[in-house]
Amino acid sequence: MSEPYDLVVIGAGSGGVRAARMAASYGARVAVVEEFRVGGTCVIRGCVPKKLYVYASRFSETFDVAQSFGWQVDAKFDWPTLVANKEKEISRLEQAYIAGLEKPGVEIIHDTAAVTGPNSVRLLDSGREMDARIILIATGAHPSIPSIPGAELAITSNEAFDLPALPHSILIEGGGYVAVEFATIFAGLGVDTTIIYRGECLLRGFDDDIRKGLEAGLQDRGIKLIHQTTIRALSRDGDNISASFSDGVVAPYGAVMFATGRVANVGNLGLETAGVELSPSGAIAVDAYSRTSCPSIYAVGDVTGRVQLTPVAIREGWYFAETVFNNNPLAVDHSQIPTAVFSDPELGVIGLTETEAATHGDIDVYLARFRPMINTLSTKTERTILKLIVGADGGKVLGVHILGPSAAEMIQLVAVAMGMGATKADFDRTMALHPTAAEELVTFKGPSYTYRQGAKV
Ligand code: FAD
Repeated sequence: MSEPYDLVVIGAGSGGVRAARMAASYGARVAVVEEFRVGGTCVIRGCVPKKLYVYASRFSETFDVAQSFGWQVDAKFDWPTLVANKEKEISRLEQAYIAGLEKPGVEIIHDTAAVTGPNSVRLLDSGREMDARIILIATGAHPSIPSIPGAELAITSNEAFDLPALPHSILIEGGGYVAVEFATIFAGLGVDTTIIYRGECLLRGFDDDIRKGLEAGLQDRGIKLIHQTTIRALSRDGDNISASFSDGVVAPYGAVMFATGRVANVGNLGLETAGVELSPSGAIAVDAYSRTSCPSIYAVGDVTGRVQLTPVAIREGWYFAETVFNNNPLAVDHSQIPTAVFSDPELGVIGLTETEAATHGDIDVYLARFRPMINTLSTKTERTILKLIVGADGGKVLGVHILGPSAAEMIQLVAVAMGMGATKADFDRTMALHPTAAEELVTFKGPSYTYRQGAKV
């Protein structure tokens, strides 16, 4: 056995890096084991490259609208340039993460780790055994792949960023934010794009008006939507992939992508050797302080299946370090998390949907639909949607839902007001900033409609 560590972190992604840095800054002897690249999903093949590709894809619409402002644009897109520049940026960020770990003295080990007991970890490549007072599992999640014939012909978000060339067409299976974002990326870059989804409307769990507005916006951009259907089988058909659907249709596509959810990385981690229990969904079960059923083992981020977002993983990692290494027990509040989908149109939401809020009590709903100003000189008819859901008793703002340009930026700031318990009167007192889309949020007069005892009035 080697010398003991105060903390061994498995996984150098959003949650693991923050926890390791904070614990080391409190004087702990920390090692972090990473089997791929430092930075994890968010930096290497998630939020960061995704947003860069979203920016790339939006130029086509910008060039289109620019003509209504008198510009003449003759633009060409080069995929290898985007991939190479993305690689440069994520490598820069990876180096920044490494420096951020090394500065407080965290040891970075490139290997695959497995737990071998409550206080021991084995490195599977080197065979090294490590003693640890505390183990933190921050191994994230991976794309789920449907078990259908020919599934190996499809890609996931992991491969989508580095395709050797853009396909002429793509079929994306899924109805969540990854499916929707990649559909708008590919469509904006000129790929003939189809989403196939088993449900009736994309983005289950989001507000219904926003979901419908989003689907209309996707279709306006030429994205085809196939509902209540799944892919049954894939097969090679020359340069194409032939997809057989559950309704009997067979169609060829240049590429097929699964965006059908993400599964916690718990396989081969040796959790049974330490009695670490899983939740019914297969993620690691933890308490409010991210402690597992084994007292010396904690888990944060996507592997716990709480809320699979980077800022949540970071906060869980930070609060774990506060609790365990700074004698300052902190539990993460998982309510009121602002969420965005960086599609076109973009959406940003926080709090309860209309349907959820109406089951909690009487509510007033304020709804605005208008053409975003950038489109008023063009023939684009798409509407921005802003919805404010307010408790009828006391006027507390319970939910804000925005679909349209810069929705994500708006909702981040709305989250501050919501966190302070803002009421409609607080919004009304706020001076409008004109001309913006967000000013609608502080200039609503009477409610558009209300719910009383669960019924829409
Ligand atoms: P990860 O960041 O996944 O890190 C886990 C690390 O553990 C990985 O580096 C992995 O290689 C390593 N690992 C796994 N097993 C082992 C092992 N046995 N030994 C050693 N190392 C191991 N979130 C947002 O907030 N905003 C977004 O816009 C957003 N966009 C996304 C887009 C896509 C396409 C995807 C896939 C995700 C996106 N997310 C987004 C989610 C976000 O990336 C994750 O919530 C976040 O990265 C979770 O952090 P984590 O620390 O739990 O895991």
